Amino acid sequence: MSSNPSDPNHLLHHFETLAVHAGVSPDPTTGAIMTPIFQNSTYAQRAVGEHTGYEYSRTDNPTRTALQNSAAALEGGRYGLAFASGMAATDTLVRRLGPGDHVLSGNDVYGGTYRLFDKVLAKNGVEFSYVDTSDLEQVEAGLRPNTRMVWLETPTNPMLRLTDIAAVAQLTQAHGALLAVDNTFASPALQRPLLLGADVVVHSATKYLGGHSDVVGGLVIVNDQALYEDLKFLQNAAGAVPGPMDCFLTLRGIKTLPLRMQAHCANAQRLAEFLSQHSAVSQVIYPGLESHPQYELAKRQMAGGGGIISFIMEGGEAAASSVAANTQLFTLAESLGGVESLIEVPAVMTHASVADSSLAVDPGLVRVSVGIENCADLEADLSQALAQLAPVSKPAAVEAVGA
Ligand SMILES: *Cc1c(COP(=O)(O)O)cnc(C)c1O
Repeated sequence: MSSNPSDPNHLLHHFETLAVHAGVSPDPTTGAIMTPIFQNSTYAQRAVGEHTGYEYSRTDNPTRTALQNSAAALEGGRYGLAFASGMAATDTLVRRLGPGDHVLSGNDVYGGTYRLFDKVLAKNGVEFSYVDTSDLEQVEAGLRPNTRMVWLETPTNPMLRLTDIAAVAQLTQAHGALLAVDNTFASPALQRPLLLGADVVVHSATKYLGGHSDVVGGLVIVNDQALYEDLKFLQNAAGAVPGPMDCFLTLRGIKTLPLRMQAHCANAQRLAEFLSQHSAVSQVIYPGLESHPQYELAKRQMAGGGGIISFIMEGGEAAASSVAANTQLFTLAESLGGVESLIEVPAVMTHASVADSSLAVDPGLVRVSVGIENCADLEADLSQALAQLAPVSKPAAVEAVGA
């Protein structure tokens, strides 16, 4: 950001200000404050071959342009590209690669990402291998001469394991590979991978950026112009673009991202502390707790613990299912990052498809996406759901019941 007062962008220093203003300016024809929903496929040309910069909406659309510029500014990047979903964003990014290219991926990435790599993109001849990216030695050992990209998520889902982005960026730079970070869980309000040395940031805008569980979308943000031009070509050529209404909703969500993330983090921190004290809960995993194995890294790399808490029930899957069934404010649902609190049991819901793999999760694990409701109400809800559990069953008692 420039600090030159003659630069019209000189006031765009702080994240909250960027969230409201970046990429968006009053519509020149009407003065409309919000970028309109340009619900059109084509644009009148002034003369043959002389257009306004917009020719056809797969190529460019003004509502999408505003979203792309906003997202780029939030991540501290130069270029943004919007897609119809997070998966479409990832797909387009990896389509740059071809036979003989290798991608080194984190081993507990979003299930849909693993499916895309393993079941779709591998058919194009791209090689994928998987390591625990939180372990730098595994990353270093996993790099091959043909590694073109390292792909990671931090924090991961649902184990909330962190990877040191700056340290991995040093390895990828030395190797001549790109580092792509899926920043969906933290959002740019808490973590900006490009500023830590990553080359590409990917988002499922469906989650915190949109923030209201009313839109599916994806984003890619980069700094390098040649990489941007490659991706821009693919965005238009493959055409997995979002519609203008979805861009509008995501832009609208972004304006309150800083406020929402503050509330998500404050609520989650308090609930994580509450759950840590509860006798029915054997382990709480939350990056804002000192008990998190990477608490120091979380403090260094993230501006807050985030809105997701995972916890393991003393009573295993039965207890996890019981809690998830008995909350009233926390809705039983997949997805995350919206204003409303959600609860799920990964082993039988979001992670059922990986039950037999190395990604399998503890059956007693519960994941909550903490919303922005009043925290006392949320705590009371978890408390009453936990109180409905049968008394914690000791192995002998289980036998007695089973007999
Ligand atoms: C949801 C999610 C995705 C996929 O995004 P969609 O918008 O559902 O296609 C990718 N990565 C992470 C971390 C997610 O949570």
